[in-house]
Amino acid sequence: MTDLTQLTLTQLRDALRRGEVSSTAVTQATLDRIVEIDNDVKSYITLMDEPALAQAAAADQRLANGDDAPLLGVPIAVKDIICTAGTPTTAGSKILEEFVPPYNAFVVDQLEAAGAVILGKTNTDEFAMGSSTENSAFFTTRNPWDLSRVPGGSSGGSAAAVAANLAYGALGTDTGGSVRQPAALCGVVGLRPTYGRISRWGVVAFASTLDQVGTFGRTVADCAALFAAVAGYDRRDSTSLNLPVPNVAEALTGDIAGLRVGVPAEFFIEGLDAEVETAVRQAIAQLEALGAEIKPISLPHTRYALPAYYLIAPAEASSNLGRYDGVVYGPRVEGVDMIDTVKQTRSLFGSEVKRRIMLGTYALSAGYYDAYYGRALKVRTLIKRDFEAAFGEVDLIAASTSPTTAFKIGERTADPLSMYLADIFTLSLNLSASCGLSVPCGFDSQGLPIGLQLIGNTLQETTILNAAYAYEQATDWHQKRPLIVDS
Ligand code: GLN
Repeated sequence: MTDLTQLTLTQLRDALRRGEVSSTAVTQATLDRIVEIDNDVKSYITLMDEPALAQAAAADQRLANGDDAPLLGVPIAVKDIICTAGTPTTAGSKILEEFVPPYNAFVVDQLEAAGAVILGKTNTDEFAMGSSTENSAFFTTRNPWDLSRVPGGSSGGSAAAVAANLAYGALGTDTGGSVRQPAALCGVVGLRPTYGRISRWGVVAFASTLDQVGTFGRTVADCAALFAAVAGYDRRDSTSLNLPVPNVAEALTGDIAGLRVGVPAEFFIEGLDAEVETAVRQAIAQLEALGAEIKPISLPHTRYALPAYYLIAPAEASSNLGRYDGVVYGPRVEGVDMIDTVKQTRSLFGSEVKRRIMLGTYALSAGYYDAYYGRALKVRTLIKRDFEAAFGEVDLIAASTSPTTAFKIGERTADPLSMYLADIFTLSLNLSASCGLSVPCGFDSQGLPIGLQLIGNTLQETTILNAAYAYEQATDWHQKRPLIVDS
């Protein structure tokens, strides 16, 4: 075998079990690749090379004893908003630059229990607020398909690492699209499970009624295997659902005959790039060729999803981020008096985070609460009802993940609204109670990846994963890799 980093997660898992490769060899090969090309891609904030090699050696021992833990020996990357005991967890922010968590997030414990090797922490927009990683306080990650472009965000480091073969899978978080949108822009698979499916214990909070952990893989089976390994109930997160984790391996049959697929008119609108639309429509036609029944549907209130989201998410963020006050939590920048100390400490926040705190505080303030936050909650209910009605008629909804392919670094930083529009098709799902994924469905004329978004009803992850799997088996988009991996 020439390049171990080219294997998919599932291929690697099987090769490890058969004893054809060792976890130490693949972990070292991946770390070597990171040293070789991550100066260009910049997907990792912190590399955990020593602990990773120790985990790999332990995994090799367990493999030799016939242990078959689901991810035994497989190197995985973790978004730097997810706590790792003993390793810095910055959330892409100066305010958490020195934060070394004393405990693991639930999902990190799950990864360890599944036998995974944790390679390091990936770049993110500060507190996951953004769509490009340009809001990271440290540096911008670049798209492996074109280094002058963004990888998407906020989980852009995770998506880029998986696309560039710098991890076999990765964890991200998706509050308004931060797993699906970077997956689309980097040509990988990204799943945002149903709210509550995965415990968020130990995940730095952004907007608590919207945040959810999600998974990235180079194939649908990889993304699904990682989801199955980290999903689960945990009493420390009161929103975590006490339900059995679906058996994804059994669900991926590739049979979608008779599956009813809804195509919402509101997701094919002005602003949707023509090449993206063509690829997405061809993908929907492919689902039909595989036996699905295509139905036009309407989600009339989703046109208000963007303004509703940009009231609800900042409102929740302003409340969650109140804890970084320089007094009881986080670093303290000493000022001349108490007010000055709080001011100086909070000036460690970047400009997008400050913008959200101000917008959110305003939306929640006395006299404006009903007009802004209260009204946004009503819109949220209407959007939820739209999805409920749609799922009375169809099994899943298909649309584009992102209105465009990857944009140039710097192109949207001066205009927050144009950045917010990057998530116009992803955030409706977060406001409702559904799940969704992005699967590669083609390239534009510049060779940039396009993602097909499949949205499922509450807890229907296996339905969308199987449809994506069927589509993937019938196409070869997922086999194309960015040039940088062969460099
Ligand atoms: N881009 C959206 C925002 O900035 C979504 C972010 C996310 O899902 N974490 O809020």
